[in-house]
Amino acid sequence: MQNSGWSPVELAAIIEAEVYGKSSTQHIAQLLTDSRRLTFPAETAFVALRSLKNDGHRYIPDLIKRGVRFFITDHLPEVQSEQIVFLVVSDTLRALQKLAAEWRSRFEFPVVGITGSNGKTVVKEWLYQVLMPQFSVVRSPRSYNSQIGVPLSLFQLRSTHEIALIEAGISQVGEMDKLEEMIHPDWGIMTNIGTAHQEHFESIQLKLDEKLKLFQHAKHLVFCDDQPLVSEAIRRLYSDKNLIAWSRYKESASVFLKSEKIKKGCVHWEVVWKGETYVWNVPLSDQASTENMMHSITFALEFGVSPEVIGEVVKGIEPVSMRLELKKARGNRSLINDTYNSDPESIRIALDFLAQQNQHPRKVVIMSDVEQSGVEELTFYKSLAEMLSERSVDFFIGVGPKMHEFKREFELPSAFYQSTSALISDLNLLPLQESCILIKGARSFEFEHIVNNLEEKVHQTVLEINLSALAHNLNHFRKLVKPETKLMAMVKAYAYGSGNAEIANILQFHKVDYLAVAYADEGVALRNAGITLPIMVMNADIEGFETMIEYHLEPEIFNFKSLQAFINTLHRMGKIGSPHPIHIKLDTGMHRLGFEEPDTTALLNVLLASPDVRVASVFSHLAASDDDSELEFTKGQIEQFIRIAEFLEQGLGYGVLRHILNSSGISNYLNYQGDMVRLGIGLYGISPVFSERPHLRPVSKLRTIISQIRTIQAGDSVSYGRTFVANRTMKIGTIAIGYADGFRRSLGNGVADVYVNGNRCPVIGRVCMDMCMIDLTDVDAQEGDEVEIFGEHISVYEIADKAQTIPYEILTGISSRVKRVYYQE
Ligand SMILES: *Cc1c(COP(=O)(O)O)cnc(C)c1O
Repeated sequence: MQNSGWSPVELAAIIEAEVYGKSSTQHIAQLLTDSRRLTFPAETAFVALRSLKNDGHRYIPDLIKRGVRFFITDHLPEVQSEQIVFLVVSDTLRALQKLAAEWRSRFEFPVVGITGSNGKTVVKEWLYQVLMPQFSVVRSPRSYNSQIGVPLSLFQLRSTHEIALIEAGISQVGEMDKLEEMIHPDWGIMTNIGTAHQEHFESIQLKLDEKLKLFQHAKHLVFCDDQPLVSEAIRRLYSDKNLIAWSRYKESASVFLKSEKIKKGCVHWEVVWKGETYVWNVPLSDQASTENMMHSITFALEFGVSPEVIGEVVKGIEPVSMRLELKKARGNRSLINDTYNSDPESIRIALDFLAQQNQHPRKVVIMSDVEQSGVEELTFYKSLAEMLSERSVDFFIGVGPKMHEFKREFELPSAFYQSTSALISDLNLLPLQESCILIKGARSFEFEHIVNNLEEKVHQTVLEINLSALAHNLNHFRKLVKPETKLMAMVKAYAYGSGNAEIANILQFHKVDYLAVAYADEGVALRNAGITLPIMVMNADIEGFETMIEYHLEPEIFNFKSLQAFINTLHRMGKIGSPHPIHIKLDTGMHRLGFEEPDTTALLNVLLASPDVRVASVFSHLAASDDDSELEFTKGQIEQFIRIAEFLEQGLGYGVLRHILNSSGISNYLNYQGDMVRLGIGLYGISPVFSERPHLRPVSKLRTIISQIRTIQAGDSVSYGRTFVANRTMKIGTIAIGYADGFRRSLGNGVADVYVNGNRCPVIGRVCMDMCMIDLTDVDAQEGDEVEIFGEHISVYEIADKAQTIPYEILTGISSRVKRVYYQE
């Protein structure tokens, strides 16, 4: 059965399952772990995995409806029918891993295991490019390197391959043994050791030893001799293996990097291997890239790739981007540009990202021929067509001879072109209006020309939003609260400056329970963008009630006047019979909006007399949840809140959700989480609570470019008012951001720094409306280079401090003319 799955009996034996039920299916070709990705139900076995936030067993009834007959579960579910087979095991993840190990054992070609703290994915991708001209290579999709990602990677192996590149990542002791059992690599690459995921390890030594377990059965091991910890550990543990080291300092190393000379962002390398010296140009000059490239090259040389091929490939090597970028395009469209991997798994990821986008009525996919090895072509294009139909893609455009050849497989509305240029000349005739367009092409098809054609041209200041980091932050807070506690995500003020539909879509995809906006208009915009989640409107003014009712938005009611007005509006519109949800706001000390304690009896009486509204929730807001010195006051607020909420709930005679905690409240007062929490700034990676910060990932990066560089002499002044006068010859840069973009005027005159090519550069002189000037005197920089305002190197906290405000104001103050670009890692 090499290469083609398992019979039910084989499968049950491998995972030592108890079998319930009988099926006529004789063959299982696919294992499914994500119910959304079903393509061939008849030959699929679904593995019901449990995670902190989800339980795959929940999807079984739905999958049965869609035709799946085999399930690997950890108990016998209630749904039963003659034709359904349940393979019951104690641990479904272990079962998946056993199957992966068995699958891998069918192949004799070399499997390369890649681990280390950083650079795994880059090394894998570059190595793939270096090996591709000579070998049929299969590799882990994206950064699939976890306990679940590794099995999914291994299931891609086929007998037509000649080498497999598999990433392994761990965060805890004990995990590597399981990965090793599956990958069982013949070759190993150890990239480096750092402090990522250090919290679960006692020492860096322990973490290193754990990672090196991946290579316990490998024969060949590639590493860098200049990392003392790594090289010492490898020599201690694995002196019996073929150790292949590269070095900058030791001429005796297998591969010796003799010299590196940087010229205009390109490096000139002299590499010595087996007594021969090779001279290569590499278009990347930073330290991390050098290290990653040397790991790849060292492996390739020893594996038998010719130095000529290596030279050719490295000359054109590009940084690896794992991003799926979402941008606004001309004519009410959005673009997702993904030129990364084109293996089936990555295509699925991109299609799923497209499926999340509801802000336009239509979805379009433009895709080139797929350079892929292993899977038979017809099968591949058939399953691609199926994936497209399943995700309700409205229009498909295939480019290239292969797409042409298999065009009959695509049943959805579509068009096919032999070349990219043929497509571009037809671009305006194609039905691409009002759509979200996924563009996915192999590099040789130069799809950037299509992107340029469609993209909105705006000035070069961009706010990048990392949707994966947002999801990370969301999940962090979800893990803090009890599983049954609901989560309301605050998307007021353009989602704290980061966007409407794009953010709401991802929150909807991740199944938050509620959204909250400040104004009815914001809610309407979300409904128009396809958001179906319940939405609470906080500043619900009376004029907006009709619109709110029409769009199923739920008002925050904070006084008698608005309560009465809302009830009247419902009556006027004839909306009686099924009560409209409202949210009662209580003032317990913030003194902003809300009913006060003495009002509550009267409030209850009005509510009891109004069957056309139903209280969905009762809530209040803490005034100082981030301030330890206000503990007594805050507890007082919470106690009062609980007292009033209890009184109302009892009086109403039905359950209402209670919520009082915002982001800092979740960090500091978790015991009072109630039925729901309201997550705001934390979602965007910022916390006023110091101890929370290490757990959050920054979501936004504000960047611009250098428009002009000039040299000024001692005595010359810069910007309005001549507040800055040079006392020596200086190089200064003008950057394309000013106070109209949200870069505050108070940040000028040396107060703030920006980050350019590895250097902090102070802002000099006054900040202008659209521009400001920075000191580039000792910095290697050119016009057009990127400038980070905040992001990885300069935090929003820092900018807020220097502007004497808080991160909330910085984030929400970024002007709407700054283009937002979204990406998923
Ligand atoms: C903005 C807001 C929140 C969220 O606050 P964060 O500090 O951003 O978490 C919660 N509740 C109410 C009523 C708000 O207005």
